[in-house]
Amino acid sequence: MQPPALRPAPGLAFVVPCFNEALVLETLIRELRALGQKLQEAGEISGAAQIVLVDDGSADSTWQMIEAASQEGDILGIKLARNHGHQPALLAGLMTAKADILVSLDADLQDDLSAVAQMIADYRQGSEIVFGVRASRKADTWFKRRSAGLYYALMKRLGVDLIHDHADFRLMSRKAVETLRAYQEVNLFLRGMVKSMGFTTSVVEYDRAPRMAGESKYPVRKMLALATEGITSFSVQPLRYVAWAGFVIAIFSFLYVGYAVGARLMGITVSGWASIVASIYMLGGIQLIALGIIGEYLGKVYLETKRRPQFIIETTTQEAEK
Ligand code: UDP
Ligand code: MG
Repeated sequence: MQPPALRPAPGLAFVVPCFNEALVLETLIRELRALGQKLQEAGEISGAAQIVLVDDGSADSTWQMIEAASQEGDILGIKLARNHGHQPALLAGLMTAKADILVSLDADLQDDLSAVAQMIADYRQGSEIVFGVRASRKADTWFKRRSAGLYYALMKRLGVDLIHDHADFRLMSRKAVETLRAYQEVNLFLRGMVKSMGFTTSVVEYDRAPRMAGESKYPVRKMLALATEGITSFSVQPLRYVAWAGFVIAIFSFLYVGYAVGARLMGITVSGWASIVASIYMLGGIQLIALGIIGEYLGKVYLETKRRPQFIIETTTQEAEK
């Protein structure tokens, strides 16, 4: 049998969200250009690779540097109106870039560029999405490793379909990108959304490098926000747990009421101060947690019903084609 024909060499664009990345931009652009050139010479992509840099409301000179670099035609700069966060910034880039295939990656070059060639090879063999997966997390801190491990286990528990150790380093075909466009939600957890689309996919493993320069733009606060986003956008399991807990507590309460009435009738009532106080605090606590979880979901519903834009572009370095 003949092997299936390869797809023709596609046009490639890199999509990179940048938040206060002035320290790494120069190296980033140099490395991406070098890689693009290599791929083009090898005939793996058609034409020069485009580099789409999304400035996510940086406070340093990131946008000035992007603007200067975009004098060369291969760079498209997109300036968001404020700091929207990594996920909306990435989406803005994906929705704006026009190339046949888009490869998204972090600005700090933690994602290994040598994996891109394999991603494109997989695409040419028929994959619509190629997930970059961390083979090792040696470069990550102990805390990041542990928290990530726990998180993936929790997500699995909650029935959320994720690729283990895949963040946002991936290749998406035009077909996949256009499908993503149909997802109108503002609570963005792209790795979950992309996985939920289906299609023929594959995985490329890589070693995650340490951040090239500067410091992480993902403090614990943002990490927790993204983690919550992932759960509440993809699973209603926590709401069910709340309902189950309520059910179990209700059964015990009825039993206890029966016991209390019986004890009263038999005249063996005692002044049970401790048990009353304990149950008030405990039930109060459980109820507050339950309300909090419900409130979290209600908040999401509230945000979605507004149908606000997922991101706001202030300006781009090239006239956006119609
Ligand atoms: N980033 C962004 N907006 C933010 C935070 C981060 O666009 O509000 C970008 C950042 O510039 C980088 C990527 O998201 O390209 C990942 O951030 P970082 O490398 O700091 O995260 P870490 O690797 O520490 O998890
Ligand atoms: Mg990083």
